[in-house]
Amino acid sequence: MIKVVKFGGSSLANAGQFAKAGDIIRADERRRYVIPSAPGKRNDKDTKVTDMLYACYAEAEAEEDFKQKLKKIKERYDSIINGLNLKISLEEEFKIIAENFKNKAGADYAASRGEYLNGIIMAAYLGFEFIDAAEVVCFNKSGEFDADKTDRILSRRLKKCERAVIPGFYGAREDGTVCTFSRGGSDITGSIVAKAVRADLYENWTDVSGFLVADPRIIKDPQVIRVITYRELRELSYMGASVLHEEAVFPVRKAGIPINIRNTNAPEEEGTLIVENTCHHSKYTITGIAGKKGFVAVNIDKDMMNSEVGFCRKVLTAFEQNGISFEHMPSGIDTMTVFVHQEEFEGKEQQVLSAIHRLAEPDTIDLEADLALIAVVGRGMRAMRGTAGRIFSALSHANVNVKMIDQGSSELNIIIGVKNADFEAAIEAIYDIFVKTQL
Ligand code: ASP
Repeated sequence: MIKVVKFGGSSLANAGQFAKAGDIIRADERRRYVIPSAPGKRNDKDTKVTDMLYACYAEAEAEEDFKQKLKKIKERYDSIINGLNLKISLEEEFKIIAENFKNKAGADYAASRGEYLNGIIMAAYLGFEFIDAAEVVCFNKSGEFDADKTDRILSRRLKKCERAVIPGFYGAREDGTVCTFSRGGSDITGSIVAKAVRADLYENWTDVSGFLVADPRIIKDPQVIRVITYRELRELSYMGASVLHEEAVFPVRKAGIPINIRNTNAPEEEGTLIVENTCHHSKYTITGIAGKKGFVAVNIDKDMMNSEVGFCRKVLTAFEQNGISFEHMPSGIDTMTVFVHQEEFEGKEQQVLSAIHRLAEPDTIDLEADLALIAVVGRGMRAMRGTAGRIFSALSHANVNVKMIDQGSSELNIIIGVKNADFEAAIEAIYDIFVKTQL
């Protein structure tokens, strides 16, 4: 059995955190491939090394003196090395980095050094081989990740290697120039490595004990989701719940490898297991609740709308022509409503309205702003009668007026539209009825 383990920035922010990660890796010899992030924040006021690198490189690019900022970054690493009593020095590495900054090697190169240097320290600390991600994670000329080539090169390389540290977040083009994934991209590297070695499990170690049933800023100490499917995760992440980089799902999902989100600061907790499919019943009818504020409902009325073939297409064309994507589109006999993001819509509002008038000739168009959408997600809802009923009676008890309901045909989610001002109360009411009452 092979486990690939990725540690996030807060799990490697200082020597103490490094030691916790080391203990976790050594506690299970199946943990053979390690993907480190760059050192993250040590406390709320701290700065991530990745952000320090971007800021330092901005000075280099502006041909200002960047030495002071680079020195501060080196101090972060030196304190980890000293705290772990390691006999390595990054002196030479920093000379090369300073030279490359002077020669304007690029912001991606700069940011990637965070993971690169942490990888060197991690490999020395564990006694594992260090593999530079630039040699095994491939990007094409236009800077897009090349999944097939990477899989080929990486699996060949790792077959020969019993235990290795591969830094997260970056790779390189064929000409050697470094490219990074988007922020938080070490999660993606972990997933790519897990696929390449055909791992049995991809453990993603972070600073929370998994995915939470609801946002902890709204619900105090929410329950942790024990098992979630990739589809449920997608629904919740789309609505704002985030622990894992969205793109990290694809490589392992295709290979049928589960992801286990774990807490470096509480390794005894089981965390959240993300799987393709499961017959594991979630403890509650719902798996999770997530939501976003800031939507506008565009209500369009036209007598006999339902007998007019193509009406809907004409309305949607008006949005499409203005580059606006819609979220939901509930409809009645002579009405339809299009939910769009307020921020995206505001600047183009009048163009869209006149396009609807021109293309679809409605009787009236009415706008309602400051709405929120809440997704109640759960594979368990399919088998359970009365879920929607319970949601709406809970909302009515909380005095929340429901503006829109949309249940996906998969019965995996129910989307509810409420006023922005009712958002928190609505989530609390739904959490209470399904989780606090333990049903
Ligand atoms: N260090 C990078 C970031 O801060 C990548 C990562 O941590 O996954 O975004």
